[in-house]
Amino acid sequence: MSALEPVARLLQDLIAIPSVNPCFSDGKGEKEIADFVAEYARKAGLEVHRQPVLEGRENVLVGIIGSKDRTILLETHMDTVTAEGMTIEPFNPQIKDGKIFGRGACDAKASLAAMLQALVEIARRGSPGKTIWLAAVVDEENGFNGVQQLLSSGLKADYAIVGEPTSLNIVIAHKGTVRGTITTRGVSAHSSQPEKGSNAIMHMARVLTALERYDAELRMRLHPLVGSPTLTVTMIQGGRGANLVPDFCQVKVDRRTLPNEDPLAAWDDLKRFLQSQPELLDLTLEVEEPELVNWGMELSEDSLAVRQVLAACQQVGLQPQIVGVRYTSDASFLMRNGIPALLFGPGNIEQAHTAEEWVEIEQVVIAQKVFETLASLLPL
Ligand SMILES: [Zn+2]
Repeated sequence: MSALEPVARLLQDLIAIPSVNPCFSDGKGEKEIADFVAEYARKAGLEVHRQPVLEGRENVLVGIIGSKDRTILLETHMDTVTAEGMTIEPFNPQIKDGKIFGRGACDAKASLAAMLQALVEIARRGSPGKTIWLAAVVDEENGFNGVQQLLSSGLKADYAIVGEPTSLNIVIAHKGTVRGTITTRGVSAHSSQPEKGSNAIMHMARVLTALERYDAELRMRLHPLVGSPTLTVTMIQGGRGANLVPDFCQVKVDRRTLPNEDPLAAWDDLKRFLQSQPELLDLTLEVEEPELVNWGMELSEDSLAVRQVLAACQQVGLQPQIVGVRYTSDASFLMRNGIPALLFGPGNIEQAHTAEEWVEIEQVVIAQKVFETLASLLPL
């Protein structure tokens, strides 16, 4: 049996440190893994900075400093989703059939391991002339506070690669999200005398039918890489008792936007649509301000980032596809702050967040080689 590659051992070490986002009940945060990443990088002689984001939660920036005019940013996240409900040991990474199993194996510790080990190898060979930063950020699985703090520090780069499980394909577009609450109001009455009340749940039924129509209209639009925008009603709540005419009903609505669609404008459009439907005019209907707004993103296929990553992939014998995905990521924050970004990393998104998360070791090894090759490509 061949010895395990250093990047695979590093990935095992990273999985063994729980870093569940504190938005989950079993979440202890990223402190321990941040300490580990910082120490691993420091031992390899890399530049290390810590950046406080939230209480006890810090981004770790690891760098090779070359020319300030030429900077590549490798960015990925240290947090994971909950380990509850997993059918394998989440933090005791096992290897089987060339795969490493555990929480975060593919999302996104495989990317973190590949990026960190690449920097260690690049540094070992001496300065590549350009500056390469690895930003291992916190809080990607919930509030995107890590990447926002990173950007507020004024970090600049010619382009960024966001490490997410893309199956070693180059992702240049993803959707955005806008989420909020819609409420109908009625008048409460005893259900033995329903004519004295006004039923908010029945009002919501009319709203839901209208929303279904709205979603069907959205689906007529088609983006070549990510498909259609969508609207999904995800939660419903209403009424105060089994013998009362309900005076309120509330739904949560999740609208997925196209890469270049303004999510706030999309929410306003939904609001206008509901306000203009004749069968809803007599209702007391409240469309609240959105609770979550994430932009989509799209990068040109001709951009420097795509050309360079493609060249690096080809140098290691990889033929990646250039694709779009439906999930949101840190990349849109980078793009909106003037840093062209694409997504690239080992592992398949199908295994992310699952009860039996894993990644193929070979993909992690190849990803590391791609990141190393980027450093030695001709000057930007
Ligand atoms: Zn992720």
